[in-house]
This record gives sequence, structure tokens and C-alpha cells, in this order.
Amino acid sequence: MTADVTRFAPSPTGLLHLGHAFAALFAEHAAHASGGRFLLRIEDIDTARARPEFEHAIEEDLAWLGLSWERPVRRQSEHFAAYAAALEALRRRGFVYPCFCTRKEIAAEIAASAAAPQGPDGPLYPGTCRRIDPKERERRLAGGTDHAWRLDTARAASAVGPLTFEESGAVPEAGHVVAQPVMFGDVVLARKDTPASYHLAVVVDDAAQGVTLVTRGLDLLPATHLHRLLQELLGLHVPHYRHHRLITDDAGKRLAKRDQATALRTLRERGVRPEDIRTQLGFTSR
Ligand code: GLU
Repeated sequence: MTADVTRFAPSPTGLLHLGHAFAALFAEHAAHASGGRFLLRIEDIDTARARPEFEHAIEEDLAWLGLSWERPVRRQSEHFAAYAAALEALRRRGFVYPCFCTRKEIAAEIAASAAAPQGPDGPLYPGTCRRIDPKERERRLAGGTDHAWRLDTARAASAVGPLTFEESGAVPEAGHVVAQPVMFGDVVLARKDTPASYHLAVVVDDAAQGVTLVTRGLDLLPATHLHRLLQELLGLHVPHYRHHRLITDDAGKRLAKRDQATALRTLRERGVRPEDIRTQLGFTSR
């Protein structure tokens, strides 16, 4: 068995709840079971929503749960230059294009089309700016028109050929999974207000931190198909994946940051002990 490096990668946009506790314990357990290392990464790319007090609360709640992690903790907001370099590498090879559409224009175009294809995150971008005349594109760029950068997913996928990733979670697709990044359409990799998207930052970070086993919720399994393509385009090390179940409330609904009832802080204040949480979530051995 290889000694795995795993990570827990929360966004500091609210308090951690039982679902986060499960994800963190799952990652730590996978690392320790293999004699490996457990890391914490703060995904604070969305600087408008991320708050230092939540980052502080994350560390406090995880320590209370009995977790420890390596330092320094990687904070995405300190690595925008690395994401910009990755984007530039894609741009030089013609795998991304500038998109000048506003959200409103995209919505109108989708509404007007008879059959707008759906991706894992909603309707796919109709590709308007992919088809712009190159001279017009240069003119708008030179004129400083606001733009995002989108991956030309189909073109990039056909340039690299078929890809697979290793999935060891308790999911039907476990094993050698054929990546299908095209289902995402032309995703945004960077915007003016957010210089790197989740997808771009996560592949750069997992490689920079030497993560060998990505553990995360099943909701992110589709994203792995796209991450695999980005890793190939950027020449990054490809980790293995283990997606896990999502913790739900009594009504079977996924926990959300706005539900205070399952916040670790609330539970702690009510006298719940860390060992009770570990047991409830199925992590009994230390
Ligand atoms: N930051 C992401 C989240 O809060 C997790 C990203 C990942 O594990 O890849 O859901």
C-alpha cells in the first residue's frame, strides 16, 4: 500500500457542519490508514464571500474534533499567480478563449434555443464567443472589454485523446473510469472578479501539495471528469480518487452551511463531545 497524501479543502464561507466533519475525518482516516499525511487547504478564491473569522473557526472546530494537519496551511488566495500561469499555459496552446458574454446574454441565448444541452452544473454555455471572428476577438481584447476565459473543452479533449482516472469510492462507477469532460461544455476557468475557478485552482493545488488521493463528496464526482482533462493539459500529476457519501438531515436533505442546527459549534455548545460525533459518523477507531 502506498502512503497517501490526502486533504480536506473547505471554503471559509460559513461554519463547518456534520457533513464537513465527515469529509475531514474521511480524508484523515484514509491518510493514516496508509501511513500517509493529511493536509488542510483553505479554498478562499471567492474573496467576496470568504472571511478570516470562518477560517479561524474551521481550524478551531477541526482541532476540537481531534484532527491535526501539516503546516503551513495552503490558502488559495495566496496563489493567484500559480493559477494565472496555468491559464497562460492553456492560452498559449489555444485551449482557452476569451468570453465577452454577460450572464444575461447567456441566459437569453439559452432561453431562445430549442434544446439547450444540460451539464452537471446546469445548461451548457452555447459557445457564442468560441465562434467569434478572430479579428473581432483581438479588437475586443485590445479595447479592454471585460471577459472571462473559457476552456474549449471539446477541442482540448480531442487533442489529448481518451483519459481515465482511478476511483475507489463505494460508487457504481468505481475502478478505471473513462473521463467525459465534454459533459461540462466550455467552463469558465477565470473571470475578472475571480481570477481562477474552482476547477483550475483545485488541480493546480492538488499537484502543488503532492496530494495522491483526493477524497471528497459524491457531489464532486462529475467535476473529476473535467479535472482529469485539466491535469492532462497542464502536465500535472494525477491523483487517485475516492468519493464518499453525503451526510443528510433526518428528512434526507443534504446539509447546508445556513442550517445552524448541525454546525459543529452548535453541537459543541450543546454539550456534544467529539467522540460522539466520530461515533455518529462511523469513525470509531483512533
Ligand atoms: N472546496 C470544496 C468544497 O467546499 C471542496 C473541493 C474538493 O474537495 O475538491 O466543497
